[in-house]
Amino acid sequence: MDLYKEIAELIKTSNYVVVFTGAGISVESGIPPFRGPNGLWSKYDPEEFAHIKSFLKNPFKVWGMLRDMFYLIYNSKPNLAHKVLAELEKLGYLKSIITQNIDGLHQLAGNKKVIEYHGNYRKLICINCKNSYPLEKQKIQELPYPICNNCQAPLKPDVIFFGEPIPLDIMKQAEEEALKCSLMLIIGTSGMVYPAANLPYIAKSNEAIIIEINLEQTSYTYSISDYFLKGKAGEMLFKIFQNIIT
Ligand code: NAD
Ligand code: ZN
Repeated sequence: MDLYKEIAELIKTSNYVVVFTGAGISVESGIPPFRGPNGLWSKYDPEEFAHIKSFLKNPFKVWGMLRDMFYLIYNSKPNLAHKVLAELEKLGYLKSIITQNIDGLHQLAGNKKVIEYHGNYRKLICINCKNSYPLEKQKIQELPYPICNNCQAPLKPDVIFFGEPIPLDIMKQAEEEALKCSLMLIIGTSGMVYPAANLPYIAKSNEAIIIEINLEQTSYTYSISDYFLKGKAGEMLFKIFQNIIT
């Protein structure tokens, strides 16, 4: 049987399909991933700039990177891959998405059940009094960095930096979904950022079928992936989708 048809059948007949996404799914929307050649992260080393210690030590420096990222995210739109996942949820074939992305593109595409493991860059939070602010261009442009109107402390996007813990409720929800699923679709993640990277192993421990889509092989490919589709997220998902609806 054709591979895409086989995967489409599995998705149609599985009773609990969960999708786990990483930065690779948003590359076709113009947002570069951490790993691989690209603009943003050759300018800023994410291990340094996306670490909470760097932010607390020098918010001005880190806001240089955050502003660049803001413009990328602010101007981005869901791509074919996000749209296929939204259709799959509408058709009842997909129960939830666990995403490591902070760009909010799954919700913009129309997905309702999205667990944002690393938070969302569409809101700002005061690091001191925890007041929250909507993400606005004007606020982002404040110099030397956006501050809280309440207590003058620096504002930070509502995302998890390296060195920060994942909120317990989010971790619990994601683990429950991973344990519950009978099929997990892993899309565009290198599987190198923990604890998020554990979720596919949790799914596999409960005998879920693992289908992976990536441009290159990852640590999942030979360990737990039952199927590996090498290619762009949008193209691969669309081929599967065509077989689901016919
Ligand atoms: P990563 O950068 O470590 O890996 C990206 C993976 O996507 C790679 O394995 C690459 O081969 C693959 N890829 C690249 N283009 C692809 C495409 N068109 N189709 C399919 N696969 C493609 O990303 P990660 O594993 O998500 O870890 C990075 C962390 O950085 C995440 O935790 C995330 O929070 C954060 N991040 C988020 C965004 C975003 O929100 N869009 C962007 C960069 C980084
Ligand atoms: Zn404050």
